[in-house]
Amino acid sequence: MTDPAVHEIYAVKYGQNLTGLRGHYFMGPDGDPHDEHMQLDYFVWVIRSPGQDVLLDAGFTAATNARRGRDHWEDPSRAVTRIGVDPASVPFVILSHLHYDHCGDLDPFSSATFVVQQEEVAFWTGPYAARGEFARYVELEDIQRIVRLNFERRLLQVDGAREVVDGVWVQRVGGHTPGLQATFVRTAQGIVALASDASHFFENVEQDRPFAVHADVVDMYRTFDTMNARATSGLVIAGHDPAMFDRFPAVPGHEGHVVRIA
Ligand SMILES: [Zn+2]
Repeated sequence: MTDPAVHEIYAVKYGQNLTGLRGHYFMGPDGDPHDEHMQLDYFVWVIRSPGQDVLLDAGFTAATNARRGRDHWEDPSRAVTRIGVDPASVPFVILSHLHYDHCGDLDPFSSATFVVQQEEVAFWTGPYAARGEFARYVELEDIQRIVRLNFERRLLQVDGAREVVDGVWVQRVGGHTPGLQATFVRTAQGIVALASDASHFFENVEQDRPFAVHADVVDMYRTFDTMNARATSGLVIAGHDPAMFDRFPAVPGHEGHVVRIA
């Protein structure tokens, strides 16, 4: 790994939700065992090149968990130190979207620029943000922090597509939230698509089954196509799937916590 434009990718788990049912996560069809239990894991991703770690998503903290009652293991900024990430020196944290489980632990990334879609910021500071089916997935304090970071000139608001560092691109895809972005990373195996919540489980993108929480189902289907088309490695990585630990090798010493994707 000497080419700075070719990256390694690690998924770092910092918690889980053991109380969910399939019916919470999948729309139709009739006959789906909607009352079956389904585990959902919480991850952040480390995109590593020589001398530089870029983060995708920043999870949520123990303080937020006290209100939401998930099985929170550790703050994401601490979890990533397992593989040597120094949060204070991370130059970019890509925020896939602004739901509470993706943008809650920003403060330890004290020198980072946070990369988010302009449309996502506009939505959560706009007229529909406070409506019930949207508001319950965000923390007001997280949105306030985003506004403050913008005034501190530490928010990079992307209008559509952008290369963040050499070999790492974001692209607005929408669907789950209006300004959701997917991340594409050049690796030794080709381009890997990091879906985050553009595909919570592998079943979403692989079996063409939209997630139950959405702003636009058409965008959600289109996003499956976009990710499949761009991922020359054949890898479209789901955002919350416990199967991560079956599909990819654990980092020795951190079994059950960190896997290497590419
Ligand atoms: Zn999520």
